[in-house]
Amino acid sequence: MRNEESAIQVVEDFTLPFAEIVGQDRAIQVLKRSLATGKVAHAYVFEGIAGCGKKMTALAFIQAIFCGTGAGCGHCPSCRKLATQQHPDLHLLAPDGTFLKIDQIRELQRELALRPFEARQKAAIIDDADRLNPAAANALLKTLEEPPGNAILILLTSNIEGILPTVLSRCQRLRFAPLPLASIEAWLLKKGITPEAARIAAALSGGSLQKALEIQDEDVLQSRKTFIEQMTALSLGEITPLLRGAEELAKDKEQAVAMLDLLKTFFRDLLLLHGGSTDFINCDLAPLLQREAGRFSLDEIMQRIQFISQAQQALLRNVNTRLALEVLFMRLAAR
Ligand SMILES: [Zn+2]
Repeated sequence: MRNEESAIQVVEDFTLPFAEIVGQDRAIQVLKRSLATGKVAHAYVFEGIAGCGKKMTALAFIQAIFCGTGAGCGHCPSCRKLATQQHPDLHLLAPDGTFLKIDQIRELQRELALRPFEARQKAAIIDDADRLNPAAANALLKTLEEPPGNAILILLTSNIEGILPTVLSRCQRLRFAPLPLASIEAWLLKKGITPEAARIAAALSGGSLQKALEIQDEDVLQSRKTFIEQMTALSLGEITPLLRGAEELAKDKEQAVAMLDLLKTFFRDLLLLHGGSTDFINCDLAPLLQREAGRFSLDEIMQRIQFISQAQQALLRNVNTRLALEVLFMRLAAR
């Protein structure tokens, strides 16, 4: 919960016009062109990894459509209400539990059929649209084809394969690339994050601003550090703490996969060091990296990265989580 709170604090001053969105120039260009030529589609699918700016772009696009200036000024009452997602003509839908359900779609259809309150038309953003259950997706088809009152619908997804072809064929698709790491780092710095935290969070973000915001949290960075330190201290001579560590990590499989991702970056840094570079991701762990580099040959480092990947694949395949982690920890401890 802490992470979410800090993420909100960082983004709360966003007013959302296109110019403030990081690193999605291509997608924004397409949308601006459709605004300029008056060829705005009535249904879009924005696809891209979680946290790369799809929703912000959707909101900025709606700002531009609703705003009297024709561009989304970011300051008028309409733009402000959209930035805080409180505009009466904006309808936001997200899965209720695992799925987006037919009742939610029917409710949306009722809303869209009403006259707009303030804008000339209504707009809806459907988040995680790949989680529309089949009944809900089918109910949505007609609305996508002929939205009532010229409404505009924007579906967001990080899993395009999860959307029915019948839904996709009725929407204009727009791909969002993972964000450049340098843009994420620059953005974090501008928000007052320390250079070290910004550097590490950007490097570990995989191009997701949302993930970078989660990682820059002091507690998250510290637990990463502690985990990596524990992993480099594993010893076959002390089997009890090793097994206990595996048991502890096995309690949350998703978290385990994420921690192993972080551990992999440590070994990648060791590879860099072998190649004579000190341009580390884990720049706060430089002394540990220097110490560990002498202990492993290049082959041994590569092998460990492979062991970690194998363990992650095993976890994703739903094998016994604890067993997979015990095997990995033993392999890491062996030298
Ligand atoms: Zn405005």
